[in-house]
Amino acid sequence: MPRKKNGQGDLFGEQTPGGWDEKFLPLIEKYKDTAHPLLYKNLYQLVVMVVLSAQDSDRHINQVAPPFFAAFPDFAALAQATPEALYPYLSGVRNFGNKCVWLCKTAGKLASGKVSLKMDDLVALDGIGRKSANVIRREMKEAAEGIIVDLHVLRVVPRLGISQAKDATRMEKDLMAALPKPLWHHVGMCISFLGRETCRPTNPKCSECVMQAYCAYASSRNK
Ligand code: SF4
Repeated sequence: MPRKKNGQGDLFGEQTPGGWDEKFLPLIEKYKDTAHPLLYKNLYQLVVMVVLSAQDSDRHINQVAPPFFAAFPDFAALAQATPEALYPYLSGVRNFGNKCVWLCKTAGKLASGKVSLKMDDLVALDGIGRKSANVIRREMKEAAEGIIVDLHVLRVVPRLGISQAKDATRMEKDLMAALPKPLWHHVGMCISFLGRETCRPTNPKCSECVMQAYCAYASSRNK
């Protein structure tokens, strides 16, 4: 198999136990240029939509976002609002009460200055954990400091057999230990896309999956 570059260095610069770096290449090739499902237009919209999408669907957030951004076009406008003023736009979003508070607090911190994309600064913002920070950093083309672990990744990775972690923090550590850093930028989102399209919660479509040859779940089904 030829070696390929991903713009951040040689994908095979260091081999890892289990050879997962090479095994993920077809998946990364398939999805690495796929646009994120959240239809944001700038960093402000990305931060807001990432906060809103926790425990909700990207499709739903894409629906509620345009009128919200028409009313609150940037951090400065949002910083002037109360959480209650956001309710008419966001009341259909899961956990909207807390999210409105978080958005107002975050806007208050970011309205007057340049947004720092350092991992420590992002996770210090209300409503933003490591998954959201990893998404923001990837979309802004910052070098990866972690791996995106969302609900899809939490479902797919145990099936593949890389980690059996039940929580995102533990799984991210397992993935970071199993994969070389040049892969971190893409691999989480690529696994997420696989989970959205192919490795569904019920009846995963293993026969059409690029990971089938390496997947513990598929292997056990074929015995
Ligand atoms: S082979 Fe099947 S179980 Fe394994 S990752 Fe692909 S779709 Fe999921």
